[in-house]
Amino acid sequence: MKHGVNQFIQKQNNLSLILHYLVRNRSCTRVWLAKKTGLTQASVGKHIAQLLEWGMVTEEEGITTEKGRRPRRLELQGAKYRSISIRINRDYITCALFDMSGRQYDHKQIPVKATEGVDAAMAKMYKAVGHMIRTSDIKPICMGLAVAGPYNKRTGKIVLMSGFPGWEKVDLQAELEKAFSIQTFVEHDAVCGAMAETWFGSSSPNSNLIFIAADKGIGAGMVINGNIYEGRDGFAGEFGHSSINVFGPQCECGNLGCLELYGTLKAMLDDYKDEVGNPLDTGLEPEEITEEYFIRKVREKDPTAVEIYKKTIGYLGFGVVGLVNTMSPDTVVFGDKIIIDRDLFIDTVTRVLKRYLVGEIFQGLEIRTALPDMDSILVGASVIAFERLLQDPSASFTTD
Ligand SMILES: [Zn+2]
Repeated sequence: MKHGVNQFIQKQNNLSLILHYLVRNRSCTRVWLAKKTGLTQASVGKHIAQLLEWGMVTEEEGITTEKGRRPRRLELQGAKYRSISIRINRDYITCALFDMSGRQYDHKQIPVKATEGVDAAMAKMYKAVGHMIRTSDIKPICMGLAVAGPYNKRTGKIVLMSGFPGWEKVDLQAELEKAFSIQTFVEHDAVCGAMAETWFGSSSPNSNLIFIAADKGIGAGMVINGNIYEGRDGFAGEFGHSSINVFGPQCECGNLGCLELYGTLKAMLDDYKDEVGNPLDTGLEPEEITEEYFIRKVREKDPTAVEIYKKTIGYLGFGVVGLVNTMSPDTVVFGDKIIIDRDLFIDTVTRVLKRYLVGEIFQGLEIRTALPDMDSILVGASVIAFERLLQDPSASFTTD
């Protein structure tokens, strides 16, 4: 089944708004929820009745003290419903099991290789997901997929995964729903990250947030007033293929001087190899200078590696300026593998943004890296799956 395509998807409904506050605060009162959401107490009451019926919240017994009746507290019971998250990347597929509050129960990362082909990668993924479903004490009710590269919402297919051809032929949603009979939702990885950062990292579910995912490619997920902005067919945020150098080399996409050629981990590694790749300098063969080696060098504060890291962050920051000026968000979050050293990253990118952004837009802009101790993209795929279910909740949640 194909899900509808709107430029703004998952129009946030009041149920998910209430759940967002419960996820953030775990425990609160009806009066507090009404104040925070702007809903009437009657409306909050109606939704809470529904959540109580589904077992997503519990409410304590009323206590009367000398000062009168104490407001009863609501408690989120996120553990009752589970979701499978799958993140498909060029080098690995990650599967995890989450509940509604973002708690992780199971996790598996499987290395995949382009040379083995998509069928082999899919087979490994099915095996891992199948095992996860069988061993979970609660059957997952939905599945969220985060995919790298441009993803066409209308056809349900990845358009291009650079460095791993073949994925563009697979209708992931249809294949997974057929294999596991679980409602499945596919999203661009940066969009998943943006949603997780909004749910778990923002004080308000109505915030405007841009999530920049930079690894081998660069993508942006945009949340406007709490809703994902997808653009036509879900292509919004493909800004890694915006040119920052009209005289630059040709990119895989056909454009010249794309940001991806300058602001990614791949760009850094290529630069580093040019600098020190000569075996005479390092005693290493070029193929021994891997991503992991470079990351280690940055962490060890190797001057050449740090210089190249800072230069790349500079390009990335410069590339983001147009997007931030256009949207003027509350928050811009940087995530994924480019965050090798959090302090160095934030320090460098903030200086670039301060230098090039419109002053009023920079003032008050929150610039941060993705939440530590969680893979925003992975957990975000689950958040999105749960949010989509809440649009037609009676079909998915049980009353027993
Ligand atoms: Zn390009």
